[in-house]
Amino acid sequence: MPVFPGGVTRATVEKDPIPFYVAYGEGAYLVDVDGNRLLDLNNNFTTLIHGHGFEPVCRAVSDLMRTGTCFANPTQHEIGLAELLVDRIPAMQQVRFVNSGTEAVMFAIKAARAFTGRPGIVRIEGAYHGAYDWAEAGQAVASNPDDRAATPRALPAYHGTPESVADDVHLIRFNDVEGLERRLYALRDRVACVLIDPMPSRAGLVHPTTTFIEALTSAARKNGILIIADEVLNLRQSYSGASPRYGLTPDLVTAGKIIGGGFPIGAIGGREEIMRVFGTEDARPLLPQGGTFSANPVSMVAGRVAMEAMTRENFDHLEALGERLRSGLLSSLNRTGAPFSVTGAASLFRIHPKRHAPTEFREALLSDAEGRVMKGLARHFLQHGILLPHGAAACLSTPMTNSDIDRVLTAFDDFLDVHAANERA
Ligand code: PMP
Repeated sequence: MPVFPGGVTRATVEKDPIPFYVAYGEGAYLVDVDGNRLLDLNNNFTTLIHGHGFEPVCRAVSDLMRTGTCFANPTQHEIGLAELLVDRIPAMQQVRFVNSGTEAVMFAIKAARAFTGRPGIVRIEGAYHGAYDWAEAGQAVASNPDDRAATPRALPAYHGTPESVADDVHLIRFNDVEGLERRLYALRDRVACVLIDPMPSRAGLVHPTTTFIEALTSAARKNGILIIADEVLNLRQSYSGASPRYGLTPDLVTAGKIIGGGFPIGAIGGREEIMRVFGTEDARPLLPQGGTFSANPVSMVAGRVAMEAMTRENFDHLEALGERLRSGLLSSLNRTGAPFSVTGAASLFRIHPKRHAPTEFREALLSDAEGRVMKGLARHFLQHGILLPHGAAACLSTPMTNSDIDRVLTAFDDFLDVHAANERA
């Protein structure tokens, strides 16, 4: 009997038909147990912004190990990372650390509830925010996906989840201004926050429109509803994160992935007035937040060292690589007229087996046939020594070079030729 149900330790591990096991990572590459060397465009689901075995993190963590990896007391290491984040992320006046993006989103929602005294949340259909019941309710398309006018209905995400969870989750569609306004004004007494990933990966890795952000800001402010920007994935978009790129001024921001330097982490940051729910000097907090491993020195040190190395120049380097990649993919598509499209920004991209780039989740959903095409693309890339996640965001890392990008473009061109030949056959 296998030791893992389903043969894997997490549902997100790709199997085709079985997962391949990694032996080790090295900069922008990983090597599997069969000795294949692959350019890693997954980077543990966008976490490893410096790729594998980043020397400054290795050194800092190995120095730290012998002096203790966790204490029931605060250490100065947590102040270092907190100050870096507060300095860079405009919406983060104060910070609390946790151990994962799931936990960060959970505590941000709880903070919004504690601050407003309201139970409900509004979130974007199809966007992924981790495994807190309220953050994932409605993940499945509840109503008829072909009925574009229908307001999506939240459903508990999994069999056995209390039905009552869905009573307090209200779905809107990304970039749907009218639906957003309708919901926020109608539900204003019941809703604590809007949870929004500025470029939700599972909902297409699509940019928000300016009108959507303006409508969100105005409707939320007028109704006393907080905006939580879930930047667990998208913080890697710039030195100051993703929200400023799109003119979004959130009340709370969640972070994770890159800020841990390859170790488990999550963070909730926001306006001081709201962050007071976590603690005040004189009274019992409205929302006591703990966590055995929260702010453990290993994640704090690794995160600070990795983030310090993410200078403005390094963000520019990733931006330029991303631009070269996306524009290269697009020019192949223009040249061949192949029915694919590309979305993304900065170091993130996603290829869609669709002629028109999706603008929200329903347009990004794959039919079975499209799913097979994407699996074929991932398989083709593997043959070219490239690991491409095929249902979510792919990403770049700082050790990558123009020649790595050009390898991806060559593999894509080659795939388009094979795909066109197969279609003709
Ligand atoms: N929010 C977003 C936007 C995410 O992309 C993810 C993970 N992919 C999470 C939350 C959950 O983070 P974690 O896997 O660290 O719990």
